[in-house]
Amino acid sequence: MKKILIVGAGISGATVANKLANAGKEVLVIDEKTHIGGNCYDLRQDGIMVHQYGAHIFHTSIKEVYEFLSKFTTFTNYEHQVKAVINGKEVPVPFNFNSIDILFEPDRAKELKDKLLAHYKLDSKVPILELQNAEDKELQFLAEFVYENLFLHYTLKQWGLRPDELDKSVSARVPVYVGTDDRYFPWDAYQGIPNEGYTKMMENMFSHKNIEIKLNTSFSSLDANDFDQIIYTGTIDGFFNYKLGELPYRSESFDNVTIDKAFFQSNSVINYPNEHEYTRIIEHKYFLNDNTDKTIISYEYPEAYEQGKNDPYYPIATPETTKLYQSYLELAKEFPKIKFIGRLGDYKYYDMDKAVNRALEVALQIQQKG
Ligand SMILES: Cc1cc2nc3c(=O)[nH]c(=O)nc-3n(C[C@H](O)[C@H](O)[C@H](O)COP(=O)(O)OP(=O)(O)OC[C@H]3O[C@@H](n4cnc5c(N)ncnc54)[C@H](O)[C@@H]3O)c2cc1C
Repeated sequence: MKKILIVGAGISGATVANKLANAGKEVLVIDEKTHIGGNCYDLRQDGIMVHQYGAHIFHTSIKEVYEFLSKFTTFTNYEHQVKAVINGKEVPVPFNFNSIDILFEPDRAKELKDKLLAHYKLDSKVPILELQNAEDKELQFLAEFVYENLFLHYTLKQWGLRPDELDKSVSARVPVYVGTDDRYFPWDAYQGIPNEGYTKMMENMFSHKNIEIKLNTSFSSLDANDFDQIIYTGTIDGFFNYKLGELPYRSESFDNVTIDKAFFQSNSVINYPNEHEYTRIIEHKYFLNDNTDKTIISYEYPEAYEQGKNDPYYPIATPETTKLYQSYLELAKEFPKIKFIGRLGDYKYYDMDKAVNRALEVALQIQQKG
């Protein structure tokens, strides 16, 4: 039997572990944290399922990923909506026709919506940077409005960078939506929250006689020679001891507050692009419809990642960091028995579904190699 080490018990590690264990491999999974689940870790507190590392909404258009995870959980039919406070009013995000109706007088709102429809298809999403390049004056006005009120200051807080310093793939995640659908992910066929939480879902993924899990265990405490294959879901620059330089990550701190009333806000997630140091407030009970007298909210404060102080959450994609990451990939070629995957290993802003999809691909490659 080939012995496989998986570094990281997050959703990437759980996916590979499950696939390889089912293919008859002996798998050891380690994590330096004291719990499984990585960033998706959730825990019930005072009857409310609290997402310990920020709100996690599962959404995907990849059927294979949905079907794979559905073996380990059922999903609620929760469909995510986000609101942002602009000029003191709560408006739907992505910015859409309803947002326009809330923020502009009826005649002006109609003009702006008609303009959008004259240039783009109903139900299409237009990246904000694309809208800024439109030739039409009214569309330029709208683009500037959204950029200034929704995008610029949020991006500065979230990333510590201006939007034009970031890779376009990051700004593409904040489109203007040409229509009235208030859902955050209207283009994804599958979405929801695991009925018993992400941690339980991942417990089920790890529950196999061929899988052993050791928590509170760092990769540096093991001998890599003891394993035929290593799947590494930690930071790729950390693996190489930052030999070529540090890849930057964004981190966050979460201030969780219990409030002695049933509800605090009108929605699970409310963004504050322009006011406050926090970017958003999460009210956790909305995810699983928890019926409690109290509520738990989290303020999310973005901050720079510093080794040993906080966790690396978001790879910061810029032309320079992409180049540095490519150099680490070149270095990785000298270590064929190690595969880097996941948000940190691939240095990519994966959502859960993309992390699972990549992990499924890598598990298949390993199985095919025998
Ligand atoms: C605030 C926030 C909100 C998010 N919201 C969503 C959302 O709504 N929807 C969505 O789809 N995705 C969301 N994501 C993204 C999602 O969290 C990731 O796609 C997913 O967690 C990636 O899983 P992973 O296993 O690759 O990495 P991780 O979850 O980071 O797991 C990596 C694990 O490896 C361990 N590890 C690292 N290095 C070592 C080492 N040297 N030794 C031992 N262990 C090590 C870490 O402790 C960690 O547990 C969000 C992320 C954040 C930060």
